Amino acid sequence: VTVLKLVRYDDPILSTPSKRFDLDDPPVDPVRLAMDLVETMNAHGALGLSAPQVGIPYRVICFPSTPNVVMFNPVVVDSTTEETVMEEGCLTYPGLLLKMRRKRAIKVRYFRPNGEVMNEKFADMTARVIQHEVDHLDGRTILNVREGVERYTAQKKWSKIVARTGGGPASIKGEKQHE
Ligand SMILES: [Zn+2]
Repeated sequence: VTVLKLVRYDDPILSTPSKRFDLDDPPVDPVRLAMDLVETMNAHGALGLSAPQVGIPYRVICFPSTPNVVMFNPVVVDSTTEETVMEEGCLTYPGLLLKMRRKRAIKVRYFRPNGEVMNEKFADMTARVIQHEVDHLDGRTILNVREGVERYTAQKKWSKIVARTGGGPASIKGEKQHE
């Protein structure tokens, strides 16, 4: 099991939609990939992780649970109209917290590493994390999805952090990250 290296915030993979992971003809061993993603997430104390954040261009995400959940090709198939707004962090932007509006509860169709299809409902924090990670699979981040003044303000906030820290990816020994 390997702790994978996080890509930098300006890596183009982060704004590129990820490819479907073909579980019938897997590009890499799905079980190994699942274990590596979880190991990487845990090493950073993250609340979630997506494959493109470690330079793997496939639709795979994970988040902590008992046991940890790894979703291949997750699709949000239903959601509540009710939304909530909360600050979110991201391993890709260490130190940056931005308010995000998310559906309060969602239904997700996904595959487990063994190919089993699942349909499950999630609410509140878990639903938020899944929406954040699925966004990554579509090349969307808490920074690049913003528009207008909000984008400008968020970009400025991030630029200040980059000026101070270099904007490098979250370090493993760093403090607990949000995502
Ligand atoms: Zn993120």
